[in-house]
Amino acid sequence: MDKTNFMRRAIEISRREMLEHGAAPFGAVVVKDGKIVGEGCNHVVNRHDPTSHGEIEAIRDAGRNLGTWDLSGCDLYTTCEPCEMCVAAMFWAGIDTLYYANTLADAEALGFDLQPLRDMVRADLHERALPTERLLAAEAREVLDLWTTQPNFDTFQG
Ligand SMILES: [Zn+2]
Repeated sequence: MDKTNFMRRAIEISRREMLEHGAAPFGAVVVKDGKIVGEGCNHVVNRHDPTSHGEIEAIRDAGRNLGTWDLSGCDLYTTCEPCEMCVAAMFWAGIDTLYYANTLADAEALGFDLQPLRDMVRADLHERALPTERLLAAEAREVLDLWTTQPNFDTFQG
C-alpha cells in the first residue's frame, strides 16, 4: 500500500464514523512497516471525551495493538492537520512522519478557533489563560524521586 491508500483509509474512517456514529469527521491511522496498526476518529461529542481527537484515538489503538507506548518507526496519517494536543501526543509516541490532508485553516474556516490553544501552549505557565497554582510540591517531589529507584522508571524517550 502506498501513502495515498493509508490516507484514503483515514478519510473512509472519518466518513463512516460521522455517518454511522455521529462522530466529527477527523480520522487517523498509524502505520508501521507498511501495515495499519491503529485507527481512530474524533469522538469528542458522542463519547463525552474532550481528548478524543482522531490522532489520539489512533495512537491509543496502535499502542494497545502493539503492546507498547513507543511508536517510533510508525507514521501517522490524519485527515486534518493536527492541533497542538495531538502534536504533543505524537511527540510522546515518537511518531516518525506525519501525513495530513485538510489544513487547520480549513477547519478554522468552519468555525474552529485554535488561536487561544496556540497562545496558551506557547505561553509560560503563569501567563496562560488557564488559572494555575502550585500545591504540595515537596510531597509530590518525594514520589518523583522515589520513582527513579523503581524498576518501572522510564523517561519515555525511546
Ligand atoms: Zn487534536
